[in-house]
Amino acid sequence: MSATEGAFNVPLKCSPEEQKHFVDPAMAEANRSNFPAAIDIVTNGLNAHPASEGLLLLKAYFGYKLAENMSNEQVSLPRAIESIGDGVLMVDGGATTAMLGRFQEIIRILGESGAAMDELLQVNPGNQEVLGFKSYIERKLQKLGQESENMRLTFSNSHSVAGGFCVGCRQGINFDTQKVVFRRGSVAQMEVWHFPCFQKLGKKN
Ligand SMILES: [Zn+2]
Repeated sequence: MSATEGAFNVPLKCSPEEQKHFVDPAMAEANRSNFPAAIDIVTNGLNAHPASEGLLLLKAYFGYKLAENMSNEQVSLPRAIESIGDGVLMVDGGATTAMLGRFQEIIRILGESGAAMDELLQVNPGNQEVLGFKSYIERKLQKLGQESENMRLTFSNSHSVAGGFCVGCRQGINFDTQKVVFRRGSVAQMEVWHFPCFQKLGKKN
């Protein structure tokens, strides 16, 4: 975290005009935590002043803040893949699909933040604060990429081992949208159930 806070404490190098038209309005949006709007403003500013160090730094920083907010929100969303005891795995297809989409979006935003830092390093090579911030973003990207890949693999592997039909009602399963339960069956084969069918089973026992 100190790397990112440090990057933001670097005095912004920009002209009074950039300050007035882009930095001040963008900061006002950022103070309301409206980072998408703040990013739009600095992106417009960069179209007019492509090499502005101050605007590049803000673009990188706001991208990071937006990605961080989205990551924090992920935590409060319903669990997409969850172990519910006795070796039973519950997978919410809709939530998993949504979460994988959010991972991609966060990775895209962080990638743009990294690109802004690369440009910043071209106009200001060897800036230690920026290099520190950049390596922090790269570690974060690597970690998110790994988490998202693990989730995607768990999701796609479970389909292929369990087949496409619910053991309870014998109907087909739409893994991308439905909530299902996987459990190891009596013949050491993976079973898959619609979540409601699995709940009915529990009530009968
Ligand atoms: Zn079923």
